[in-house]
Amino acid sequence: MSPRKRQLPEIPPELVGTVHITPIDAIYNWARKRSLWPIFFGLACCAFEMIGTFAARFDPSRFGMEIMRASPRQADLMIINGTVTKKMLPQVVRLYNQMPEPKYVLVMGACAISGGPFQEGYNVVSGIDKYLPVDVYVPGCPPRPEGLIHGILTIHAKMERESLRNLRWYKKGEVPEPIPVPELGPDLVDWRLTEKIEAMQEEVVPSQVE
Ligand code: SF4
Repeated sequence: MSPRKRQLPEIPPELVGTVHITPIDAIYNWARKRSLWPIFFGLACCAFEMIGTFAARFDPSRFGMEIMRASPRQADLMIINGTVTKKMLPQVVRLYNQMPEPKYVLVMGACAISGGPFQEGYNVVSGIDKYLPVDVYVPGCPPRPEGLIHGILTIHAKMERESLRNLRWYKKGEVPEPIPVPELGPDLVDWRLTEKIEAMQEEVVPSQVE
């Protein structure tokens, strides 16, 4: 028996089989994991595999997640399903910021994980994890629906281990900062790196003067 279960109060013998006691985390996480709503968008060919996964044959209703939401405000799972181009990345980050907490990111396919066959391409982001916090990676080109379902179940397992006591979005006064939306100029500008780049510039410029 786990230490957590050992701390639960004992049930009087006359109520055994009628009353069940369980930690609030278990009920809360069970409800959340059985109502994950993915945001509905597709980036490339992996999107068709995702669409196939969400059709009748693989039946995501089993997990309470057959409704894909067209609005980020109603979604708590982002499935990055294909090649992320530099032109598309600002929109993907903006959508992520618009999703309410708690939210999760599942990355499917070689392209989204690392750039895949287009890794050296001038227009392709070589890994969405450089910009978004990723919870689960599903490799493949494309991954089969079974692979995507395994990734979703892995997110469920992650949710089961979370606790109301230490989730950051329930702590008073701690509002998670949105990720600065990258800007596309001649290339991508990641505003989170501005301070680092300025510090590097200051190091380089005096040595050039000497
Ligand atoms: S990983 Fe393969 S199937 Fe998926 S978007 Fe890239 S090329 Fe297409």
